[in-house]
Amino acid sequence: MITLTGKKISEGIAIGKLAFYKRDLKEIKKIYVKDVEKEIQRFKRAREKAISELKVLYDLSVREVGEANAAIFEMQQEILEVQEFTDKITSMILEEKLNAEYVVQRAAERLLSDADFQKKGFNKGHEGDIRDVALRLIRILSRSFKDRMFMDEPFVMAARELYPSDTVQLDKTKVLGFVTMYGAINSHTAVLARTKGIPSVIGLGEVLKEEYEGKTIIVDGYEGKVYIEPDYTTLTKMKERRDAGVHQTKNLERLKGKENVTQSGQKIDICANVGTREDIESVLRSDAGGIGLFRSEFLYMETGNRIPTEDQIFQVYRLAAESMGNNRVVIRVADLGGDKMAQCITMGHQNNPAIGLRGLRVMFEKEDLFLEQLRAILRASAYGNVQIMFPMITSLEEVKRAKDTLERVKRGLKEDKMPFNANIPVGVMIETPAAVMISGELAREVDFFSIGTNDLTQLTLGLDRGNHKLEKYYDPHHPAVLKMIRIVTNNVHLEGKTISICGDLAADLSMTEFFIQIGIDELSVAPNQVLSLRKKIRDIQ
Ligand code: PEP
Ligand code: MG
Repeated sequence: MITLTGKKISEGIAIGKLAFYKRDLKEIKKIYVKDVEKEIQRFKRAREKAISELKVLYDLSVREVGEANAAIFEMQQEILEVQEFTDKITSMILEEKLNAEYVVQRAAERLLSDADFQKKGFNKGHEGDIRDVALRLIRILSRSFKDRMFMDEPFVMAARELYPSDTVQLDKTKVLGFVTMYGAINSHTAVLARTKGIPSVIGLGEVLKEEYEGKTIIVDGYEGKVYIEPDYTTLTKMKERRDAGVHQTKNLERLKGKENVTQSGQKIDICANVGTREDIESVLRSDAGGIGLFRSEFLYMETGNRIPTEDQIFQVYRLAAESMGNNRVVIRVADLGGDKMAQCITMGHQNNPAIGLRGLRVMFEKEDLFLEQLRAILRASAYGNVQIMFPMITSLEEVKRAKDTLERVKRGLKEDKMPFNANIPVGVMIETPAAVMISGELAREVDFFSIGTNDLTQLTLGLDRGNHKLEKYYDPHHPAVLKMIRIVTNNVHLEGKTISICGDLAADLSMTEFFIQIGIDELSVAPNQVLSLRKKIRDIQ
């Protein structure tokens, strides 16, 4: 058994086979292999897998498009079954000591001009099929990460580093947990892991080796430990810990439908943070009183090169609005920039992304994107209690400019005879010291506030939250940060407006009593943190 220690970012225990995340296949590399026998076995396993995939495809096609059209998959199976094909590849691996992917690609080209193979009637008109079969084999051999998510049993994922745009695409039903060599505790990758409820440990360093691929691994997201090929005692202990976690979650379920009220009768709302369509279902299960923060930028980070259309974003917002009924759904205008880069939106190189082009400023630079989002949010407001929030505010002028644009979009929708809530509440994030200092003025301009303690800590203490070397200095409990929270709360309440906290500090149970004491109206946390927070509140005197 190998034990590794890293940084915990999302609680829970995951047990499964380890698979390394490979970003999409770009080119097939020529690699010399030492153990040719192992390489031949790897090819043979891939061949078996390809045959069984083709069988499934054949059966499916017979049902859907008829036997004649399905025959192509039967023929591709036959290509894989003829001895010449397998022999050609195994002998090339043996003689040339090359990796299977590279050999398969070359063998396919050679077979296309092989006379014996032609005699079997495989070549004429089937060149495409031979290449298709070769591609299938190469894909299985190099197992791009997305293929795994489509086809494999659930697994534990390993990666050098996971960016938020990778993490946002993780399918929770397939990825039991993840571990990485590098990464920072306060990054958006960590935020996403918690929102999705995926147990994870990061920063294991180079001791997380690719040779562990396929081995059994335990991720202990409570302690930040990882066990590879665990012994019987560790496996039993970890299974017990996992079951205890499930039991604890079940126990908390009895709090569903109960009020968030302290023993002495002080109340506070609990909402949930989401980032994707899938998270909406988790909110419903969590019994949160609504969505306190929809990180809409993640919708732009899960589509690769393709920019989602207004209609596609609208559909997700509409689903959120309809699912929450009368409960509030606070949609934050996309807060792109920093470590939240979307492949489909070019922002140019920035020396200091953490204090680079970010939030509302990106929207001002890319007005089409801003207009599209405002339209989508407004259209969704016809289906529920939708509220709009602007990120990374630093001045009153920015807020006025954003509100003017909102009014312009409303006029456009009216002309188009599209339904929307003309009185949609408008709020701002308090994430910069500047916003704290002008919170009184801002409170006369907008309807509600939400404190983003993650960025507020980063910008108050002057450190990049994504830099793992600065983690020991990142202190959201710093008196300056807490004082700011108090100042904003007072200023906002003086104007009769409401204030919530949606940064990670909202889920810090050691802070709950303080938040209630100073009169915070709402805490918005990851869906699976809602009930433990409710329990904490109900235990307070
Ligand atoms: C925050 O900064 O606390 C916040 C909620 O926004 P994000 O984490 O998405 O930057
Ligand atoms: Mg923020």
